[in-house]
Amino acid sequence: MLRITALAGGIGGARFLRGLLRAVPDSDVTVIGNTADDITLHGLHISPDLDTVMYTLGGGIHEGQGWGRADETYAVKDELAAYGAEPQWFGLGDRDLATHVIRTQMLGAGYPLSAVTEALCDRWQPGVRLLPMTDDRVETHVVVDEGKRPRAVHFQEWWVRMHAKIPAERIVLVGVESARPAPGVLEAIQAADVVLLPPSNPVVSIGPILAVAGVRDAVATTGAPVVGVSPIISGAPVRGMADACLTAIGVETSAAAVAGLYADLLDGWLVDTSDAGAVPTVEALGVRCRAVPLLMSDV
Ligand code: GDP
Ligand code: CA
Repeated sequence: MLRITALAGGIGGARFLRGLLRAVPDSDVTVIGNTADDITLHGLHISPDLDTVMYTLGGGIHEGQGWGRADETYAVKDELAAYGAEPQWFGLGDRDLATHVIRTQMLGAGYPLSAVTEALCDRWQPGVRLLPMTDDRVETHVVVDEGKRPRAVHFQEWWVRMHAKIPAERIVLVGVESARPAPGVLEAIQAADVVLLPPSNPVVSIGPILAVAGVRDAVATTGAPVVGVSPIISGAPVRGMADACLTAIGVETSAAAVAGLYADLLDGWLVDTSDAGAVPTVEALGVRCRAVPLLMSDV
């Protein structure tokens, strides 16, 4: 059985994985999920990217939105707002809340996030082994200047409340220096037959995973081929505001420039057919490159 290990953020990663499972049904897939988007709101531990992968592969995702639960209601959110509880910019659905309640309860009882994720996946049966990148706390913060003086806000506040419209002066992965990979993460990379980088945000999804101690090294030294899929098509992110993240780290929003971020790791890179012109640029980095249709419009 083909052992596939993939690094993944939220929507881009999850949709790619759903197609992957359809394309290679007889495979043993381990997903290393980004947890740097995690945030505590109203006392609850929320893991947006792990949940997006779990719900998408488990059949509970809101298809149109790409995150959160299908058939969602927002009674609790409205009630919290009636008390004036902040923040009010985060979409906390009633169904989704049950996941966060269980996660918070289990973490409070002393279980590591990896064990909690396994327990949640018992219900959703995503068909992959879903591992958080780390059991330690890592949070992406964004330094913004709204006019007075620069301040750091949680990535979710910049992304959801500010729609990434206020330029990021810096993106900081708080806690990543001391984060250790969750159990099984390095082993899954070392034992893989192929390692995949789905079209996830290179700065705030794949970036944090690779920044956990030992992960980038494991990907660089694994005997398996490492193949990535560009999240950038025709110089723009397909969904979301990845361009604002790339600009913040001084990288051009192009399929070739994203390949450059991973050039030391990659054996292969896929760009969209509309970016066929980028193939020689990527191959000049020593990475085999092909142009194929990369817009995910169905499974
Ligand atoms: P997030 O955590 O929910 O933001 O999700 P990810 O980091 O996993 O994925 C976000 C990235 O997915 C964005 O940069 C998008 O450009 C990319 N993306 C979304 N849909 C598609 C698609 O259909 N094709 C490709 N190639 N990339 C996509
Ligand atoms: Ca995310």
